Formats: sequence, C-alpha cells, structure tokens
Amino acid sequence: MRVATYRAGNETSWGVVRDERVSDARAVVGAPRSVRDLLEQTDHSRWLRGLADPGVRAFALGDVQLLAPLEPRQDLIALGLNYKTHVAETTGATKQVAPPKQPILFGKAASSVTGPDAEVCFDPAVTSQVDWEVELAVVIGRRGRNISPGAAQGHIFGYTVANDVSARDLQFLDGGQWYRGKSLDTFCPLGPWVVTVDELVEARGLRLHLQVNGVTKQDASTDDLIFAIPEIIASASTGRTLYPGDVILTGTPGGVGFTRTPPEFLHDGDVVEAEIERIGVLRNRVKESGRP
Ligand code: ZN
Repeated sequence: MRVATYRAGNETSWGVVRDERVSDARAVVGAPRSVRDLLEQTDHSRWLRGLADPGVRAFALGDVQLLAPLEPRQDLIALGLNYKTHVAETTGATKQVAPPKQPILFGKAASSVTGPDAEVCFDPAVTSQVDWEVELAVVIGRRGRNISPGAAQGHIFGYTVANDVSARDLQFLDGGQWYRGKSLDTFCPLGPWVVTVDELVEARGLRLHLQVNGVTKQDASTDDLIFAIPEIIASASTGRTLYPGDVILTGTPGGVGFTRTPPEFLHDGDVVEAEIERIGVLRNRVKESGRP
C-alpha cells in the first residue's frame, strides 16, 4: 500500500493511495490521527486495510497537497559513504579511500523535513554550496534494540524517497560531524508516500535516479548499497532502541554536485526530481531567500 499525508483545504489528513485517489482517515471512526499515531499502534494493518476500502471517503490526488508522509519520531539516522561510487568521488573531502568496514552513521535534524513539491530554501548568507543526494529511506514500524540482520525485515514499515540536501560548506566545519550541514530547514524532502512492505517486501534491485532541471545527475540501483538494509538496521540498533516512526536514510550513490569538475550546486529556481522505482518521484524547487 501507499500511505500518504496531505493537506486538503485547511486540514491535514492521511490515507491510502489507490487509483489516483487518497482516502481520508478523518472519515473512519477511531482511526489514528496521523501516520505517526498509526505506527505507534501495534495493529497498523487493520487500519490500513480499512483505509484501502473503496467505500471510504477519498480525494483525487490532484485536489490535495501531499506533505512529508510522516513526521519522523526523532532526528533521522543517515548513512555516509554507502555506495562505492560515492566513496570514490568524495575521497578528497573525506579522506576515506576504501569502502567503510562498518556503517558510518550520522544524524540529520527532524526539523529539516519537508514534503513533495515544497520549496528547498537556502539563505546565501548561510550557505552557497547546496547539493543533492537521492536516497532510499526506511521507515521503522516496530520497536527493537540489538536487532539481528535476520530479524530486521520484521521491523520495517515501508520505504520512501529522500533527498538528503547538504550544505557542503557547512558539512565539513565540525571535525567530521556532518550534522550542521545536513540539518538546515527544508533540507530533507521526503515522499511522495510510504510504500509499505506488503507491496514492496525488500527494496532490492530498485533503480534510483536524480535529475536537476531534467538533466540526470545520479543513476544507480539499491543493489549497489555497500551495507544492505538488514545490516544497517542491525548496526543502527546496536545498544539503541529504534522506535516506530524512526526514519533511516541509506546513503547516496555517486553523482553529487560538489565533487564534479567544476563543482555544481543548486540555485534559485532549480527543480530537483529524486525518483526510486516502484516508490515514486519526489520533486522540489529550490528557492534562495534571505534571513527572515
Ligand atoms: Zn546522504
């Protein structure tokens, strides 16, 4: 199933996408109020089946504004250097010459999340090096700690597309901690919806692709991940509880802007389309704006 959060008129709702329509959870008595609420209930599938019923009130997708499919429960967990092509192109900046021996985890502020078709805004007084990164995002559906790779699949609710937008001039300021450059407001578009594991069991062999103004910049397969999703979940949950509503970004393939010759960055008016096969297209326009 495809689970979306959206704005219809002045109200926010969520539902299941079918046949270019999205159902309205507000029309189902007792339904969770948000995708986060849904995930915090143990029996999500009962509500999802109910919301997939063609008899439930629904809107045409064209009549609603899709939002990020969920508000992550806490800061996003992200992976650095999880595709060989990206390790190779960034060696100069990161000093990482070989693929990492264990997942490199970093944080990205939950407050950076924005939705499909929303603007990615940057202040040129803060950064002049705004870069793109298409990534497969994993949404956790079941709590767990010290999860083994073999058990990881049972903790996944579904998958969505992320653009891990990065201010490169800020990313390398803090002694290898990337939090600052990854966490600016609007720098984490997510969407257009979550595809649940009943529709997409394992996100293997999916083409991921990113275009800027219609020009392809990144083109890879989720099979190219250095650490596959079960290993990522095992690593991220070592000694730490993962909760329903946590979101993990699994890393980006080669083709980012700052390693190009000459370097390329995003500018006012650019349109970035991040796409993953069987999930969807996440499209955002870039806007340069001064300090508020
Ligand atoms: Zn990234």
